[in-house]
Amino acid sequence: RMASYDYEVAVIGAGPGGYETAIKAAQLGKKTCIVEEKSFGGTCLNVGCIPTKVLIRTANLVSEIRAASEFAVDGVDPAAVSVDMKKLQQRKNGIVKTLTGGVQALLRGNHVAVEKGRAAFVDAHTLDLGDRTITAENMIVATGSKVFMPPFIAIEGESRVITSDEALELDSLPERMAVIGGGVIGVEFAYLFSKLGVKVTVLELMDQILPMVDPEISAMARKSLEKGGVTFRLGAKVKSIRDNHVHFELGGKEEETAADLVLMAVGRVPNTEGLNAERIGLVFDRKAIQTNERLQTNIPNIYAIGDVNGKVMLAHTASHEGMTALTNLCGGYAEVDYDKIPSCIYITPEIASIGLTEEKAKERAGKIKVGRFPLAANGKSMIEGSTEGMAKVILDETTGEILGVHLFGSHVTEMIGEVSAAMAAELTAEEVIGSIHPHPTVNEAVGEAFMAAWLGRAINN
Ligand code: FAD
Repeated sequence: RMASYDYEVAVIGAGPGGYETAIKAAQLGKKTCIVEEKSFGGTCLNVGCIPTKVLIRTANLVSEIRAASEFAVDGVDPAAVSVDMKKLQQRKNGIVKTLTGGVQALLRGNHVAVEKGRAAFVDAHTLDLGDRTITAENMIVATGSKVFMPPFIAIEGESRVITSDEALELDSLPERMAVIGGGVIGVEFAYLFSKLGVKVTVLELMDQILPMVDPEISAMARKSLEKGGVTFRLGAKVKSIRDNHVHFELGGKEEETAADLVLMAVGRVPNTEGLNAERIGLVFDRKAIQTNERLQTNIPNIYAIGDVNGKVMLAHTASHEGMTALTNLCGGYAEVDYDKIPSCIYITPEIASIGLTEEKAKERAGKIKVGRFPLAANGKSMIEGSTEGMAKVILDETTGEILGVHLFGSHVTEMIGEVSAAMAAELTAEEVIGSIHPHPTVNEAVGEAFMAAWLGRAINN
């Protein structure tokens, strides 16, 4: 059967979903190729996760240096500390180059054939790459997503409107910036640029920023960002951007805000342009390629993973879905449990959450137990000079099953992995409480919040 195809597995797109899946397929002994038209590492390494966090790292460092005297460090003049945007761009580009180069080396080292070019389906087993065609027994579509520019917001006159792609390339800063959209990307950039000294206003249609986060935590995060100088206009319906002003409607009134630069961050759309997916009969769910819970499309030998299936647009979701697709493709059975995907937001303090919000947990489980532990009662947080935030744990009242954990504080993006492992292993609250959290760590707050939820009392609060 194999003899009739060039490859057993062809992966289309070398983002975090595609490249990790291709490497794993090759490690499983499948003759594998990966097709990429642009740069290795996709959105994540080139214009997403990695470059944003490089810039945020510098913003955080600047804040810490300015706060040196709180840590008994003399000799730092806060007013003298500034950021060289050109050097910062060099640092970012260097890290991106190292990582994307690393991806190519890993593909080579694992004997994945690299097929440079833009793929278009000819049929379920054949891809046109422009100057040649290749065939494969199985296809995994991992073509990711691209920035969404809303057609209903008119852009007129002289205004400078950019997306996250260009926001990562700025080597000089505007005085005033408007961010349209209070989701993860909008909020991370609002945080970044405000820390770098830009006057930032965020316009959000809903009455809450970060709608995917537990409302208690997102309200804390908003207050914290406001304290840091970010202005939020919630319930704002943006109509147009004209001559350096954003015009919006709020509570039935027309308003405007001045901005030298406008960042459009209202979402991303699955990328299937030129793929010819409709023509070979792949079924879509709006702009996304539809799959079942095994990541299989309506054409059995074609799978779709990552941003292109429109489920959860996160890098680690893309690679996890890829591993799941491979298990199914190799004759096993696997599904993704979308209630167990951690989600992190890299403002300071950080946000990390997994599972259901309190409201959703109540709907799903009926009786729940909720516990909180404030970081103000955590020793390591005091040492760190960062006592803002809390750990919140939501449990099933009868079984102690972990339904949701929501963290706001420093280092929490490094801590949510423990909860992810506990949920994957289906540990109960009792078992998490019985495991040992090292002292002194911020992570102790998670153990304490589990006690507060399950036993009704923490120890140190
Ligand atoms: P992508 O990374 O988009 O890769 C798709 C690849 O396919 C691209 O390289 C593209 O060139 C290629 N391609 C497309 N069509 C074709 C074709 N026809 N032929 C050949 N090649 C093709 N996620 C997180 O988990 N954590 C974060 O901190 C985070 N921060 C982000 C910050 C920003 C500003 C943005 C925009 C995104 C962020 N994300 C983050 C989301 C994350 O980047 C995506 O979820 C992730 O990259 C999706 O991976 P993917 O493999 O599905 O697709």
